[in-house]
Amino acid sequence: MSALFQNYARRPFAIVEGKGTEVFDESGKRYLDFTSGIAVCSLGHAYPAIVEAIQKQSEKLWHISNLFESPGQEKLAASLVEDLHVSYAFFCNSGAEANEAAIKLARKHTGKHKIIVFEQSFHGRTFGAMSATGQDKVRNGFGPLVSEFVTLPFNDAEALKAAANTETAAIMLELIQGEGGVNPVTDDFAQAIHDIQQSTDILVIADEVQTGIGRTGTRFAFEQTVLKPDIISMAKGLGSGFPIGGILGTAELFDTFNAGTHGTTFGGNPLAVAVAQTVVDHIFNDAFLGSVKQKSSYFASKLQQAFPEQQYAIQGKGLMLGLSLGGEDVAPYVTALDEAGLLTVAAGPKVIRLLPPLTVSEHEIDEAVSILKTVLKKEKIPNI
Ligand code: PLP
Repeated sequence: MSALFQNYARRPFAIVEGKGTEVFDESGKRYLDFTSGIAVCSLGHAYPAIVEAIQKQSEKLWHISNLFESPGQEKLAASLVEDLHVSYAFFCNSGAEANEAAIKLARKHTGKHKIIVFEQSFHGRTFGAMSATGQDKVRNGFGPLVSEFVTLPFNDAEALKAAANTETAAIMLELIQGEGGVNPVTDDFAQAIHDIQQSTDILVIADEVQTGIGRTGTRFAFEQTVLKPDIISMAKGLGSGFPIGGILGTAELFDTFNAGTHGTTFGGNPLAVAVAQTVVDHIFNDAFLGSVKQKSSYFASKLQQAFPEQQYAIQGKGLMLGLSLGGEDVAPYVTALDEAGLLTVAAGPKVIRLLPPLTVSEHEIDEAVSILKTVLKKEKIPNI
């Protein structure tokens, strides 16, 4: 009998150890981790510089609260905004909290309440973030929700133009919908959002919780579009497994979050910040980001070679790739891949999401593609 709430559909084994892309279960079985803890362990498991940062900082100071100056947060904020159009950061502990901060900042700054969000989006499980999420399965049973979110079809510029008006505070989107099926924003749609942002006072919130911190081959995924979001939310990869989230915002928003308006006890504590600084120092440079792009092209081309048939589709960017199997439900295939030693995660019912650590090697990509080919091309696996 488990003493846990059964709110997760857990796989029937526990991972107890990891190094780089490899993880091991209690029986010692080895797996390639192409989940990265759902796009989190950006530098892989037990990355030496992170182990060292935790060891060093844990002997000095773990937590002190935001009652005091925070040199660590100052440095991390400066590293994150360097060469970007945003100027300020706020740190919290998770993606949902980052989106709460983004929603509150947008409402308070504009004095308006309506936020346009999109079908199949996922923004988190807290009330604001859940209400922003465009998936009934996430929201059902918890109403009444936070009001004033307007949900539109994703990548439909006409619907957006028709809905955006003087009551709209912000447009909130993922640059690639992660949980919703690895659906990238189209260039036309990004342009439509950009045009609205330029010609009105409507803010743009980019939820980069999954796509940010190098996952798509640039620091943030918006950098590969015309968009210059007013607010960027982040989490997941920022701590490479240590919980930390945050938002970045433009200079215009500075006065809106003044003392007492928003906060969190744990947010940006010295231990979390020491880890995140190590992550950012490793990832935010051309050599590392170039290697992500190069591995992404390699991975995508290997997948294309392994699955040339029309029923397969490969989508996504960087090391956030999705493979769909011609409309089939992927759950049984994900289980079969587990058994064959490759951990993957579904994105919606129809897409297998491939999220290796950004440090994955070409050799490990080859091994993963070989397992995918063997498992997915075996005879049809029945739905169980
Ligand atoms: N936003 C996006 C795009 C996500 O993918 C997620 C988590 O999957 C969240 C927000 C919520 O993050 P967290 O689970 O850290 O609250």
